[in-house]
Order: sequence, then structure tokens, then C-alpha cells
Amino acid sequence: MMFDLKQLYQDVIVDHNRSPRNFGILEHADRKLEGYNPLCGDKLTLYVKMDGDIISDIRFDGSGCAISVASASLMTEAMKGKTIAKAEQLFNDFHHLLTAENAEPDLDRFGKLAALAGVREYPSRIKCASLCWHTLHAVIDGNAAAVSTE
Ligand code: ZN
Repeated sequence: MMFDLKQLYQDVIVDHNRSPRNFGILEHADRKLEGYNPLCGDKLTLYVKMDGDIISDIRFDGSGCAISVASASLMTEAMKGKTIAKAEQLFNDFHHLLTAENAEPDLDRFGKLAALAGVREYPSRIKCASLCWHTLHAVIDGNAAAVSTE
């Protein structure tokens, strides 16, 4: 069956850029970190609230291109309620999804996140899609320094 990644990419990016999920400041966040992609000018702040080792709430704000906003929207949606271990696993899987050559995304596993594999067609934009993920990874690791893709 042919899978139209380009169409999915278009639809999902437009939708999540137009109405980003989990957008705004999270009051009483346990952890907060900024991420910056100087190549494109994408800037975001990620807020995370933990309940034990579970990401009980996660929000982001900032400004950036459609891909960076949509990726953060999709990521926060996917990460809410996950344990740190599951979040790390998803980070690794997602990193593979963005960099794997011509591997078809597993829709069952990735759901809407699979749409972001469409960015492989535009290598200069991969950092736009991965910025929020690297920022979350740093948050989970307990890093205090802001993340830059450069
Ligand atoms: Zn960008």
C-alpha cells in the first residue's frame, strides 16, 4: 500500500502550526529550559511538571517556523503521561525516524508523529523538527544550560 507521507506531512504540520497543543506557560513547572535553533531562528521554552518519574504536564511557548511549532505541539501531546524511560525511548525512536533513509514510518507506533518524517525531504529543516526533542532530552537529563542546535 502506498503511504502518502507528503500529504500527511502537509496536513499535520498545517493543523498543529495553526492550533498548537499545549502552548503557553506552565505555572509551577518543576523544570524549564530554553531551546534555540540559530539556523532558522526558532526559539522555544519547554515547561515540564513531574509526578514521580511521570511527565504529568508539559507545555511550550516561544516562536518559530511552522515545522518547529508543529513538532513541539506533537511532541508535548505524545509525551504527556509518559514515564521518563518511555520518553527516552520515544526520543531515540523519533531521532531514528528523522534520520533513517527511506524507512517507512511505522504508523501504529508513531501515530501523527510519523508525519514529521516528511522533513527528511528538506534536510535543512531537520533541526527545526528536532529542536524541541533535544530540549526535552536535556530537561530529562537535568541539564540547566539552554539547548542550541549549533
Ligand atoms: Zn525552523
